[in-house]
Order: sequence, then structure tokens, then C-alpha cells
Amino acid sequence: MSRAIPFALCALALLAGGCAGGRESQKLEAGTPGARASCPHSEEAGGTPALPKICNVPKGGGGKVTQFSTIDALLAGVYDGAFSCREVAAGGNLGLGTFDRLDGEMVVADGRIFQVRVDGTVHRVPGSLTTPFATVVRFRADRECSTSAPLTLRALEAQLDRVLPNPNAIYAIRLRGEFPVMKTRSVAAQKKPYPALVDAAKAQSVFALGPARGTVVGFRFPPSCRGLNVPGYHLHFLSEDRTSGGHILDMTAAAGLRIEAQEVGRYEVVLPHGDGGFSRASLGRDRSGELQKVER
Ligand SMILES: [Zn+2]
Repeated sequence: MSRAIPFALCALALLAGGCAGGRESQKLEAGTPGARASCPHSEEAGGTPALPKICNVPKGGGGKVTQFSTIDALLAGVYDGAFSCREVAAGGNLGLGTFDRLDGEMVVADGRIFQVRVDGTVHRVPGSLTTPFATVVRFRADRECSTSAPLTLRALEAQLDRVLPNPNAIYAIRLRGEFPVMKTRSVAAQKKPYPALVDAAKAQSVFALGPARGTVVGFRFPPSCRGLNVPGYHLHFLSEDRTSGGHILDMTAAAGLRIEAQEVGRYEVVLPHGDGGFSRASLGRDRSGELQKVER
């Protein structure tokens, strides 16, 4: 774990313009002599492990997150699908969410929308299927790097915090690699009257998928988005063979994990309309405690 930290520090230094090239550099390949020579965390400078492969330096602030409904509405039991997956796909090619009646976990990867059902099966969904909550982005990574050591979820989040240095920004994230531990969950379709999410999630299915190879997609939202989305990391998984996945409860990542991320400058929330559950939901109180229970 400690071997990987220098890379993160270097990545951060690069983001901040502290190493050769800084923000204005368009390309900074691994092993670029100028980068190593001037980076205080490089192998030459401190005897620490080699720099990771850093393919570019971020510009940041590009693109737009499109979100359908709010996390507090979902927590309050607003599960009726109000938006089609066609609309979701039009908003972005990477993201996550759920489906009408809370029927499984949504993973949006490479522009395709997958449904991980409560029985663990994975399905491509038709554009007509609806969702009560989803968050997507037209993903265009503005920073990329690879890890040099195995990481627990907590250690990975700590590393990501260094690569994603603005605590008040929204970041979209894609991770690709091997996951020795991959513990996910999915939830079952609910019947009316809908229970609150904290109760519906008690009957979730938990899957031990590791070791698995695949893609993790998700976001880190800032604390200021509380009530609208999930502050902190919210990650979903899809295996490479697209036969398993879900909302990530825990994971470990093998060395060589490919990290790609994008600082997103615009945030659009599309609210449900009509006389569905959203208009009657009690959305005035702080549901952070409930969110904490259902997310982990
Ligand atoms: Zn989730």
C-alpha cells in the first residue's frame, strides 16, 4: 500500500503544476525525463518507487453531469420510473442509477445501460425501460494514471482524493482492472405502497464476485450536493464479461488498476413532473443518516 502513495503525490503535484509541464502541458508520458528530473517525489529525487504512467495532465471543468430526480426522493421511496433509459443514454455514456420500482442496479458503461437484478443476472435494457433515479456524464477523462500496489477500498479512496484534489468539485470516475475482492449488492423490485429505501435495502442481495476483472464507474460528489446526490464516492461495478455487477459495498484492487477521471463543470438535475410520487414526497428533512445506511 505504501508503495503506491508516491505516485499519487506525484499525480497531485502534476495536477497542481508542481512538476515539469504543469497545467499547460498537453502530454506527459511515463518516463518523460523532464517530469522525473523535476518531480520531488520521483525515484531519482527520493529513492521512492517509480512514477506511475501518467498520460496527461488535467484541464478540468469540462462536460456536464445529468441527473434524473434526487437521491433524497429515492430515499423517500419515489421509485416509479419517471424517465426512460433512452433519455438517460442521451445524457451520458457513463453512470449509475436504478430502475422503475427499484428493480436492480443500473450500470452505464461505454454508452450501454445494464441492469443488475436482485438475482445477480445482468441484462442490457431497452430504451423504453424507465428509471426513478440515474446520474450520467458524457465521459471524457481529463486525468489518467495506474496504481502500483494493491489497494483496499479505503486506501483507493484516499488515493483518489489526491488525484481529485478539489473537494468542492464533481468528478466522474472509471476504474479498470482486477479486483480480488468485489462485494456488490442489488435490490428487488418493490410493491406499492413503497417502503423507504432504508427498509427496501434490508432485503438486498449481496454478491461476492471477486476475483473479478471489470469496470467500476461512478462519481464523487461534494458535500454541497447533499440531498441531491450522494456526497463522497458512489461506485457501481460491471464485470468484463458483463455477467455480474452491482452497487459496490466493498472491494480491493490489484496493482495496475487504471484510474480515469473527469472534473465536471456543469451539473443538471432533471426533476420528475406530473402527479407521481415526487410531488407528494417528504423532502424537507436531512436524510444523511439513511443514506449512510443504504450506501455501505
Ligand atoms: Zn448505487
